[in-house]
Amino acid sequence: MKTTLLAVALVVGLASCATATSPTGRTQYVGAVSQAQLTQMGTQAFAELKAEKPLASDARQRAYLKCVVDAIVRELPATQRGVAWESAVFTDPEPNAFALPGGKMGVYTGIFTVARNQDQLAAVVAHEIGHVIANHHDERITRQMGAQTGLGLVGAVLGSQYGDGASQATSQFGGAALQAAFLLPGSRAQESEADVVGQQLMARAGFDPRAAVSLWQNMIAASSGRQPQWLSTHPDPQSRIGELQARATGLVPDYEQARTAGRKPACN
Ligand SMILES: [Zn+2]
Repeated sequence: MKTTLLAVALVVGLASCATATSPTGRTQYVGAVSQAQLTQMGTQAFAELKAEKPLASDARQRAYLKCVVDAIVRELPATQRGVAWESAVFTDPEPNAFALPGGKMGVYTGIFTVARNQDQLAAVVAHEIGHVIANHHDERITRQMGAQTGLGLVGAVLGSQYGDGASQATSQFGGAALQAAFLLPGSRAQESEADVVGQQLMARAGFDPRAAVSLWQNMIAASSGRQPQWLSTHPDPQSRIGELQARATGLVPDYEQARTAGRKPACN
């Protein structure tokens, strides 16, 4: 048992850091964990959330989200399209959403108060899936591990559960990974990149890319007085609205072409 954990620690800790080029041409430092490990972490984190948080009972809401996710996933690169994406609606008034490696998409019911039509919901979904296909989770983990010198993080991750049993250690691994890499705010560069990738995806899927702008306006209007979680992890909303607006104009031809080609999602 201990040998197995140690092996995991060594593999994770010693995996070499590599550079990659992101979808918008940034140099990324990635590779601290393998794609298989990322998938495992995403799957584990999603399972934990589903066990902890009440799921929405409204079947129409779930079908609505699934319809939007499916339409976006059809536009992903072939390697990502092959993943069987799973989505879940959690009962929580916060307007929040996330996507995880391994093909997991979650929204809180509060998101429907700001994403008021299928195009606005597609803006949320495509942004979150944009983080996944741009490999931002790998990038965050690699950065974390660099900061904490590899094995140190693994020690912290496995730490208290070390030797207590494989399932508990796995669970601890998933939980800590969720905190360290999945729920921390993305960097400004990652957020801008998810905006770019997401808006392209929604246009190609036949969702109006201009809805990304109105989504953010709703989000800001809804946040007067206090800051929703999704906003706090997505800083500087006003300047992003300007960027989304400028890009939406350029993406209208892609959107119209998608509609002409018959990609007309009807999820509402
Ligand atoms: Zn984001």
